[in-house]
Amino acid sequence: MKRILVTGGAGFVGSHLCERLLNEGNDVICLDNYFTGSKENVVHLLDNPYFELVRHDITEPFFAEVDEIYNMACPASPVHYQYNPIKTIKTSVMGAINTLGLAKRVKAKILQASTSEVYGDPTVHPQPESYWGNVNPIGVRSCYDEGKRCAETLFMDYHSQNDVAIKIIRIFNTYGPRMNPNDGRVVSNFIMQALRGEDITIFGDGTQTRSFQYVDDLVEGTIRMMQSTPDFLGPVNLGNPNEFTMLELAEAVIRLTNSKSKLIFMPLPQDDPKQRQPDISLAKEKLDGWKPQIELEEGLTKTISYFETKL
Ligand code: NAD
Ligand code: UDP
Repeated sequence: MKRILVTGGAGFVGSHLCERLLNEGNDVICLDNYFTGSKENVVHLLDNPYFELVRHDITEPFFAEVDEIYNMACPASPVHYQYNPIKTIKTSVMGAINTLGLAKRVKAKILQASTSEVYGDPTVHPQPESYWGNVNPIGVRSCYDEGKRCAETLFMDYHSQNDVAIKIIRIFNTYGPRMNPNDGRVVSNFIMQALRGEDITIFGDGTQTRSFQYVDDLVEGTIRMMQSTPDFLGPVNLGNPNEFTMLELAEAVIRLTNSKSKLIFMPLPQDDPKQRQPDISLAKEKLDGWKPQIELEEGLTKTISYFETKL
């Protein structure tokens, strides 16, 4: 039985990860400050004696004897990470320093949840890990993008300077049950709007693209990455290469919910990336042939069923 710390464990992705790690017979500490996550996401795990829920802010040091750390704490929706940009960058940078310090002290293996946002508004398409990105360092998204980029740097430096066993994953747009209905990201917005019969808010002309990954595929890839050979540090892209425009996504959501909602067009937010698609060759090669199993229609159907219970 491994003792595993999941920071941001009460969030959307973190809660699925905690559940899976518990099901595999591990002892899990879920740490969260509940900024965008909630106890509701993990309440079903509280009866398990091997699950511990800790209210803590990762910008402060945390001490526990653990074998592995998944560092997932950070608001991920633009609306939430831009609410308090200084706090967002502190969460990424000080959160990385605090968790890496812990990993160093207790000799734990540590995985960082990085993001496709490190590629910014990419000029290379699809994005391989070797692409250095096109990020505005002083824009509204910088607190998130540059915080995550700095965290990657810290991970690499703790590895080379202090021999900490590290892993870095770059997560592309992921959706699924337990996204907060008020999360503000596109999949949850469109589904909630369609279910309520409200207008669907397309930012810009809707021709910008994203590639959407179902959460179970991400969790599988994340755990395989943690278990990969010690010499493979990443970064590795984890995402579904099937790319859609926001108009296509809106149409799929309307069809699958049988909604009468209409599309309305709103201004495109500043620095909104025009396109995004992961190159997942490295993940396939290094993570035992990992590739996404759940395509958009199936994943949306499961997610819609979840949001129906939240109305
Ligand atoms: P989320 O907002 O649902 O989860 C983040 C969790 O971190 C929440 O429970 C929140 O309360 C917690 N948190 C935030 N700041 C904290 C702090 N200072 N101390 C302790 N806890 C804190 O988002 P998510 O989609 O589950 O994202 C999880 C991780 O994956 C994040 O690091 C995010 O950057 C990364 N990621 C997610 C996506 C995606 O599409 N879902 C894409 C790229 C990267
Ligand atoms: N978007 C949209 N309507 C919404 C929310 C988002 O058209 O109600 C667009 C947004 O402008 C972006 C895409 O959907 O082009 C994905 O946005 P999200 O916030 O989900 O993630 P990110 O931009 O970080 O990939």
